[in-house]
Amino acid sequence: MKKDPRNFRPESLMMSYGYEPALSEGAIKCPIFQTSTFVFKTAEEGKRFFQVATGQVEPDPGEELGLIYSRLNNPDLEILENRLCLWDKADQAAVFESGMSAISTMLLAHLKPGDVLLHSQPLYGGTDHFVNHVLRDFGVDTIGYEPEDDCDDIRARIKKQGAENKVKMIYIETPANPTNHLFDIACAAEIAEELSTEDRQVLLAVDNTYMGPIWQHPLEHGADLVIYSATKYIGGHSDVIAGACLGKEDAMKPVRKLRTFLGSMAGPWTGWLLMRSLETLKVRMDQQAENARHVADFLRDHPKVEKVHYLGHLTEADGKQFEIYKKQCKTGGAMLSFNVKGGEAEAFRFLNNMQLAHLAVSLGSTESLAEHPATMTHADVDPSLKEQMGITSNLIRLSVGIEHYEDQIADLAQALDKV
Ligand SMILES: *Cc1c(COP(=O)(O)O)cnc(C)c1O
Repeated sequence: MKKDPRNFRPESLMMSYGYEPALSEGAIKCPIFQTSTFVFKTAEEGKRFFQVATGQVEPDPGEELGLIYSRLNNPDLEILENRLCLWDKADQAAVFESGMSAISTMLLAHLKPGDVLLHSQPLYGGTDHFVNHVLRDFGVDTIGYEPEDDCDDIRARIKKQGAENKVKMIYIETPANPTNHLFDIACAAEIAEELSTEDRQVLLAVDNTYMGPIWQHPLEHGADLVIYSATKYIGGHSDVIAGACLGKEDAMKPVRKLRTFLGSMAGPWTGWLLMRSLETLKVRMDQQAENARHVADFLRDHPKVEKVHYLGHLTEADGKQFEIYKKQCKTGGAMLSFNVKGGEAEAFRFLNNMQLAHLAVSLGSTESLAEHPATMTHADVDPSLKEQMGITSNLIRLSVGIEHYEDQIADLAQALDKV
């Protein structure tokens, strides 16, 4: 008997799930459906597709939405979205032309003037700008909280602002970039639950770019929505900008709808590239996590390194951070940062002398990437907040790639020698 595909692991399904070769001349791989529109067999069929697409009628059991127009649906995006759902056990997914368009579309779909957004701090620079400038201009207020805050501190912050009836969404990014501080997803879910009323559900959205979709599954811990910059691990080859939002059906419906009207969906070529990337996602990320452990151990013992910020090094002595790590992270990941002894000059000398790793922002790619958060990715952050967050002039962020770890370590060693 054929094994029920739902019992196969996601990595076993990434090559074939959701694609029917017979519909594409027997091609083993999904072709790129580089087309703007789709031909209806009859006018009646076109009418039916639109009735389903616009929600005028409920689809019959097993009826899939017919292909209409590539801003609404396209096979490369639909198959990709079905595959993305498998890792996080999500009901629905939507793929976007960038991580930022996934984030902005998702936030605009669920927030309206007068609502308050509670968010973890620090946030990815682009998200921080969108939340604290663009959303504010639309009349959405924000409350930030920090890694040191426990559940009661967060409750107190909401109360202090008199926002108990106004918080509409909680948005967290964990681990935080670039310091790897962790935020408790289950605690945020608990607060969202407490603030929800019968006719006002408070949603929890988690930006899982740093750990996902392999090493952390926010939906399991009570989140409603998960966000990815698919530019990072999902794409994984530094050759595409894309994003994804996935989650529970009720939370996803408004997101998919707004995507249609903002037109922020990804194109078929991006969909095809990401499907190709998903086939190797698990092997890439497993190798990167293993390499990161070796690299982090090497850096910890190096005389020119002051401190390494790597999740896999957390111990009981780290208290709450270690507890969160045990609860929600499957590995230490492959992002780390470290302080070289000295300041900007020493950090720059290190960066300028790397031979294997590249000096570039972004992360999660096959090649190792290093950068200087204080003057690059986090250049915009308020100086006092930078200090408080530990984004100092001697901090370097490293995204560990798939090169042999001994070669990576040899490269780091020779660059540190020049410091
Ligand atoms: C890169 C990144 C984003 C933005 O994604 P883009 O694909 O660059 O638009 C959002 N969140 C995190 C955590 C990121 O690293």
